[in-house]
Amino acid sequence: MNNPFQNAMNQLERATKVKQFNPEFISLLTQPEREIRISIPITMDNGSLKVFEGYRVQYNNARGPYKGGIRYHKDTDINEVKALAFWMALKCAVVNIPMGGGKGGVTVDPRELSKGEIEKLSRGWVKMMARDIGPKIDVPAPDMNTTPEIMAWMADEYVKITGDKTNATFTGKPIEAGGSEGRGPATGLGGFYVFDTLRSKLHLPESCKIVIQGFGNVGGNAANILFQNGHKIIAISEVDGAILKEDGIDINALNEYKKVNGKIEGFPGSRKISNNELLILECDVLIPAAMESQITEKNANDIKTKLVMELANGPTTPEADDILFGRGISVIPDILANAGGVTVSTFEWEQNLKGEHWNEIDVFAKLKTIMVNEALEIYEKANSLKTDLRRAAFILALERIEEEEKERL
Ligand code: NAD
Repeated sequence: MNNPFQNAMNQLERATKVKQFNPEFISLLTQPEREIRISIPITMDNGSLKVFEGYRVQYNNARGPYKGGIRYHKDTDINEVKALAFWMALKCAVVNIPMGGGKGGVTVDPRELSKGEIEKLSRGWVKMMARDIGPKIDVPAPDMNTTPEIMAWMADEYVKITGDKTNATFTGKPIEAGGSEGRGPATGLGGFYVFDTLRSKLHLPESCKIVIQGFGNVGGNAANILFQNGHKIIAISEVDGAILKEDGIDINALNEYKKVNGKIEGFPGSRKISNNELLILECDVLIPAAMESQITEKNANDIKTKLVMELANGPTTPEADDILFGRGISVIPDILANAGGVTVSTFEWEQNLKGEHWNEIDVFAKLKTIMVNEALEIYEKANSLKTDLRRAAFILALERIEEEEKERL
């Protein structure tokens, strides 16, 4: 089993071979500032008590409060959360927002819990963590299997415990609970702005053939936006399986189909394929939007795309990165491609602190400016350093974090 934190540290080492940094600064980034582990006891619907393991990793706050989502997944463990928290620190620096890096999680398969049990678990996470988070300390958000509704429960529990009325401790809340316009599609839309900015530079056609792994918040929104913009999505997967339709999937019809059937399998005109088959389909753009460590040394040689756009966190291992680079396949790295989510989360935090509510047009315009500018800066850095986009993005982030860390060194 791949260790995502080891992969993250390998990526750091590889970037620092392209540009040298002060070794003391780099050593600061090889471990998190704090790791918090909690037990969350829940009375289940059948009256029994079950104890869940939860986490928060506060990786680095040189640039601002720790920021990052909370993941509910059966395989989530401290190594995964540490890796995700490290990537958050870099991601916030890539898009130049005043946030540091953090991440949280609970080891749980939410499909095995009722809605009431999930609410108790979410409120339980906050009860155990309340003293360690706050608008100027650590600002969590949604991630895999955590929703705006869960953020609303968490925000409500935090107010009950602390009396803090700023509503700026959790982002990704529903609009009526103080959320920002545009937070839902922000990650997919941010990825689209980056893709659209770099598409012709990466020699991709105006209408691309696209494969997407994951049809949740990120993959689903990316599919909608790419489809609306004239691209052809030929395959999509969910945790239970994948569908392929060579002549293109009508994403509006697929959304309707999923609403009625609860799954994408069986979509008219499509055929079922495995998740492994999906990753090696011939296409212009492959978008991993589910889990980490999906493109590894085992399948990287079989991948038949021109571009991998990482909307998931950590979907490509460092060994696979080398293979793709050697084969001339570009990778738009996660810390750039999926940074739209944390960017709009930070807009939400800012609106909550100022007591403002921005309209969707303003939110998207601010998001677009950031994503386009940073994509171009990283592309130019990669060219001038003769390296790949991931190393260039790491170097840009490290330069920005180092600037703020100088006082501590
Ligand atoms: P989600 O829970 O809404 O959706 C996850 C999707 O992935 C679902 O469609 C699920 O069926 C599918 N999936 C899970 N395991 C799979 C597997 N093994 N094979 C194929 N499909 C699988 O989660 P999300 O918020 O869309 O997050 C997806 C990824 O994007 C994660 O890596 C997350 O860290 C990253 N991310 C999310 C955000 C955000 O704003 N939500 C921001 C940045 C990065």
